[in-house]
Amino acid sequence: MTARVLDGTAVAAALRAEAAPAVAAFTARAGRPPGLGIVLVGDDPASEIYVRGKLKSAGEVGLRADLERLPATASLGDVLAIVDRLNHSDAHDGILVQSPLPAAMGADAERHVFDAINPAKDVDGLHPANVGRLVQNRAALASCTPAGVIELLERSNVAISGARAVVIGRSDIVGKPMALLLLHRNATVTICHSRTVDLPNVAAESDILVAAVGRAAFVTRAFVKPGAAVVDIGTTQVSDRALVERLFPPGSKRHEAFLRRGSLVVGDVHPEVAEVAGALTPVPGGVGPLTIAMLLKNTVRAAEDRLGR
Ligand code: NAP
Repeated sequence: MTARVLDGTAVAAALRAEAAPAVAAFTARAGRPPGLGIVLVGDDPASEIYVRGKLKSAGEVGLRADLERLPATASLGDVLAIVDRLNHSDAHDGILVQSPLPAAMGADAERHVFDAINPAKDVDGLHPANVGRLVQNRAALASCTPAGVIELLERSNVAISGARAVVIGRSDIVGKPMALLLLHRNATVTICHSRTVDLPNVAAESDILVAAVGRAAFVTRAFVKPGAAVVDIGTTQVSDRALVERLFPPGSKRHEAFLRRGSLVVGDVHPEVAEVAGALTPVPGGVGPLTIAMLLKNTVRAAEDRLGR
């Protein structure tokens, strides 16, 4: 069997196409476009790429997106001051502080910053008030990556209700909200993590398997029930040639991309899983584009809610 491809790029394009008229309608009503403030601290290369993508997509659908940059030497107080300004800005409906913050800011810095964002503008769904609403299944703003996965599954006609779902990973930003969103759509959900005993066999009971681990090719065929839908959220930058060649044979497109760039973004799911799974998200082109599309959707939602529907 070769797994059906769950095409995140196509679903993200559909979400953007849906966002554009909503942005236009809001702009006509409010006399200004929905506004998103993005805060980027330091010079993490991956964050630079993500933020560039977010700004570009926002501009394409007519959102106002402002980038607030701070150097890696900035203090937690500097970041909180920008968040406070955006909280009080009439022009900004959404606030996103790009993760990770520089390590020098301290282990609890992200928690302080996310807690400081006005929940009504928290388009990443990370404020405890929004997390609480998600637990109670009345979230307006849910974390973008897991919310994007739900859009992908639903629009690809993967049945969630009644399915057994396993989520590998329990982070606040991906694993936990993913599990809750699946639960609220009536999946029977198991959350796995680094202490889970007999992980491959637990995973292999699932009809929907979501990997959010951050370890290249961690999920092998032993984890997958034949015919299951497998969602690969993980992204790991790999520059180890031997590893790349074990995963992607010389002559393949992925191998050629590695030769051109000297590194490759690899998902959590081993390529051999395509032979067992019924459906599978590719990396790249699976979950990544959905995260940005959901950010736009959440920003429009936050803007509409602030204005009053
Ligand atoms: P994270 O905070 O590091 O969480 C990783 C999770 O994986 C933890 O819960 C950890 O368990 C679990 N884990 C680690 N090693 C394991 C093992 N050997 N067996 C079972 N579980 C294991 O990462 P995250 O923020 O959730 O992100 C996960 C991945 O998704 C990363 O690769 C990230 O880059 C990617 N991501 C992609 C997008 C996108 O748009 N495509 C968006 C967000 C994140 P413990 O809790 O026990 O430590």
